[in-house]
Amino acid sequence: MGAKRQGYGVKLERGAHIRLGPHPEACEDEEQLRQLTARLRAETGRLIAADLFAGAGGLSLGLEQAGFAVVFAADHDAEAVKTHRHHFRGLTVDWDLSDPTVIDHVGKLLKSLDLDLLAGGPPCQPFSKAGRSMIRHQVRHGLRESHDRRRDLWRSYLDIIRTSRPRAVIMENVPDMALDREMFILRTMVLELEKLGYSVEERVVESKVYGIPQFRQRLILVAIRDGLRDRLNFTWPGEAVGETFVEHAIGDLPAVEPGWRAKENAAGWMPYDAGKAVTSFQKEMRKDVPEEDAGRVYDHITRQVRDDDREAFALMGTKTRYSDLPEEFRRYRHDIFDDKYKRLDAENVSRTITAHIAKDGYWYIHPYQDRTITVREAARLQTFPDWFRFAGPPTAALRQIGNAVPPMLGRILGDALITSLQTPVAVVYSSEEIASCLAGWKRKHAATAIPWLDAETRWQAISAEILLDRAAVPHVRHVWGALKRWMSPDETVAAAGDLLKIGVLIDRSDRAEALLALARVASNGEHPFSDEDLAALVSSRAITQSQADIAALAVPFGEEDTSEEPVVITKGVLRVVARLTGEKELEYKNKLTDGRLAVARTIGFGIDSRKAHTALMELAARVCRPRPECTVCPVERYCASSEKVEQLDAMLPFG
Ligand code: SF4
Repeated sequence: MGAKRQGYGVKLERGAHIRLGPHPEACEDEEQLRQLTARLRAETGRLIAADLFAGAGGLSLGLEQAGFAVVFAADHDAEAVKTHRHHFRGLTVDWDLSDPTVIDHVGKLLKSLDLDLLAGGPPCQPFSKAGRSMIRHQVRHGLRESHDRRRDLWRSYLDIIRTSRPRAVIMENVPDMALDREMFILRTMVLELEKLGYSVEERVVESKVYGIPQFRQRLILVAIRDGLRDRLNFTWPGEAVGETFVEHAIGDLPAVEPGWRAKENAAGWMPYDAGKAVTSFQKEMRKDVPEEDAGRVYDHITRQVRDDDREAFALMGTKTRYSDLPEEFRRYRHDIFDDKYKRLDAENVSRTITAHIAKDGYWYIHPYQDRTITVREAARLQTFPDWFRFAGPPTAALRQIGNAVPPMLGRILGDALITSLQTPVAVVYSSEEIASCLAGWKRKHAATAIPWLDAETRWQAISAEILLDRAAVPHVRHVWGALKRWMSPDETVAAAGDLLKIGVLIDRSDRAEALLALARVASNGEHPFSDEDLAALVSSRAITQSQADIAALAVPFGEEDTSEEPVVITKGVLRVVARLTGEKELEYKNKLTDGRLAVARTIGFGIDSRKAHTALMELAARVCRPRPECTVCPVERYCASSEKVEQLDAMLPFG
């Protein structure tokens, strides 16, 4: 095996710094903005939109293509703001939307425009349990936060919606926003929006199903003002026929040498053969290129490639891992950086284009050429047309591209929203309404199928989960009578003999012994089973996450508002939600995404949500079993799969 190469520096090629002037109809102040908005509304009848956290304008572009007029945008990235200001009329500002005075001002400004649509993707940071408790309490009780505190950006977004009351809202975000244990941010947003009278739909969308040549999952939330009253609800767009692969997207672009820069023309274009645009995607990308640029492609530049990297790239296929490369080409630890280099597959969609591409392009090696992809190729994979240019140096362009919403996704969502605004549906229910119904049922009916949902202490719930999870119904009924007497680990240890006998009787001796062992560990009185205690027990593997979640859900620790409310997904709960919504596939797949979202939508996040969640679990075990009993189901009137009529017919055969 040869020696490792020396000298790792990559020769930096400076790309042209792209300077873009403002759009001819750019506004210089807010008065001009109001006049422009009034004129557009009167003369064109277009729906008026604003884009917050707009970046370069991917979502703005898609919405414009769908027919909206985007007249206001804000971001806090100077280069992205210049890009947006160049391509879109109206007012584009570089403002800090975490500043309470700015939030207040933007809310009032947008209210004065009588917006049809507020769009945007506020970045979401994880935040502390204390922060969550405070927000949960305020939202449930309609309290407002003091205005002197800097906001998390998603809260800024909500504040601006509350003040400006746009006719519709589109929010785009990473799926992680919805996948924490409590789904806290998403549930809070839905609750707030419903309290304001919006109907709300949210879904984790896979971009490639809409013909976008990229694997890019995004959480999309769409809300319609007065939708609950006017029966207006967002209807998700249908999927495209077939996928667009990398080759379909960039196969017409000319070969380029790494580090190439146009020497002969200051504008930095490369000759382009228009006859090579053969796929519908490529033609779409070239469609509005100005005539004088028909034979040119801009921004088709990439980084210089080190000699050893070029050799390494040449050895790589689309499935090659970093650790597969000969040792002399690996200058990073292959056990840590197993996926350091990745070649795109021409016959598949691209991996997600992220802002990291601005730092290094190793995840985006061209399918055939031994280099990373160019700025234009990245823009194509994000569905930016070839006439769309980006302000600043190439690294700023790549950052703007990686952070963008694909314009094609914006257009598809915009089209679907316009249709939804004009098409009332049969009925729209809020999460709070269904949750209130479920909670009301639970208050009237003690849990009998999973009686520890009514436990008084978290220890009781943990004990029952360990000993009785999925036990036969008679065993549950009888054993719970004994278990519930042992409210603490001490009491369980004191009754060790009885516990072990029960284990033998129900043929679960191993579980009884495990429970006793846990009780002994926890019997020193240091485990009041707070949320933090449960987390510690899970991380030490003394209990499972699911056992901790059910205990936390069944028995709030301290005040309800300060105690966590995890979203618990069981097979039974998914079955009920799949039937309720009529989306049968929820029962079998997407447990981590669509299934969780649907459960969260059913239980809401208001004062009834905890009770509604336990009701859902009990309902799954008692009523909505594999053979449902719809005639006694409390949520039958909301259910898309009710068999009540058929069941009544069978019970009362008058005919
Ligand atoms: S109506 Fe029937 S199918 Fe629908 S949730 Fe109730 S029991 Fe299940």
